[in-house]
Amino acid sequence: MKLFRSLNIVLMAALLSAPSVLADERPVAMAIHGGAGTIEKSKMTADQERAYREKLAEAVNAGYRVLEEGGDSLDAVTTAIRILEDSPLFNAGIGAVYTYEGRHELDASIMEGATRRAGAVAGVTTVRNPIDLARMVMEDSPHVMLAGPGAEQFADSRGVKRVENSLFDTERRRQQLEKAKKKIEDETRQKGNEQAAVNALPVAFRMGTVGAVALDKSGNLAAGTSTGGMTAKRYGRIGDSPVIGAGTFADNDSCAVSATGHGEYFIRFNVAADICARVQYQGKSVAEAADAVINQVLLPVGGTGGVIVMDAAGNIALTFNTPGMYRASRSSDKPLYVGIFDKE
Ligand code: ASP
Repeated sequence: MKLFRSLNIVLMAALLSAPSVLADERPVAMAIHGGAGTIEKSKMTADQERAYREKLAEAVNAGYRVLEEGGDSLDAVTTAIRILEDSPLFNAGIGAVYTYEGRHELDASIMEGATRRAGAVAGVTTVRNPIDLARMVMEDSPHVMLAGPGAEQFADSRGVKRVENSLFDTERRRQQLEKAKKKIEDETRQKGNEQAAVNALPVAFRMGTVGAVALDKSGNLAAGTSTGGMTAKRYGRIGDSPVIGAGTFADNDSCAVSATGHGEYFIRFNVAADICARVQYQGKSVAEAADAVINQVLLPVGGTGGVIVMDAAGNIALTFNTPGMYRASRSSDKPLYVGIFDKE
């Protein structure tokens, strides 16, 4: 009898604590990228490589910590992206590429998988962390995308401090602009076609876009992307990064995606949404869906780049068709991974 009673107590205690045990056992996962392109070991010093690896690890760990402590996936995404925007190593925020006129025009977007709410900004020039402004558009405006001076008026209306455009300057990107302009001018003279010249610019002239995807303990996915776009861009050119469905997408029923690459192709082929559609309607894994779109759809038409993809079970795919992609991931069942080159 006594044994029976104590067994009962043990059983009751187990039942009472079950929900919290379950909540704690729910997987969390975090993945980030810092751009895809011609990244080759031979062209990098050991110090440069170490700096990239350390910054990637810092960003993914910071996002992961938010998730582990019970924070939501949107906070994890913005935490990781802010670190990458503030680093001069990447083409987002500080370290963004220059436009043809020698300024910086920044694009960013964010999406929440539980509700499919989304926010984006394009061509902003005086907001230090465009990812935060994109989130404000999502949470505190009736719109999805705001561009240029209007986006900055919105920033003012929400009390966001503005910064000088020169805050984003770096010598490395300045030199890239000079080289890009020379290449465009030479090619235009030869071919008589400025568009062909711009399209022919090597990938290195836009590399370094940043992005993050996350899964929190409530089972919610989120994705975000931030970029300076392409070196020497003109005429208010906007790439895929702030375009929901192209550069960023999140839906709890399928997956979360952040893309990097030749934006024009990613817009035309609706890359992020196409990957999630394949997961949802064809029952593909995130790895299969990402491989199909990046390697079988984009590559044959000349679209270069990559994606990070995550589903609601925390499965992750880091897929690219370029020699490398700065990337990192960490999840409940997989330790920290940091990669730069192919096959590592
Ligand atoms: N996708 C970005 C753009 O086209 C650039 C990149 O990710 O490399 O603006």
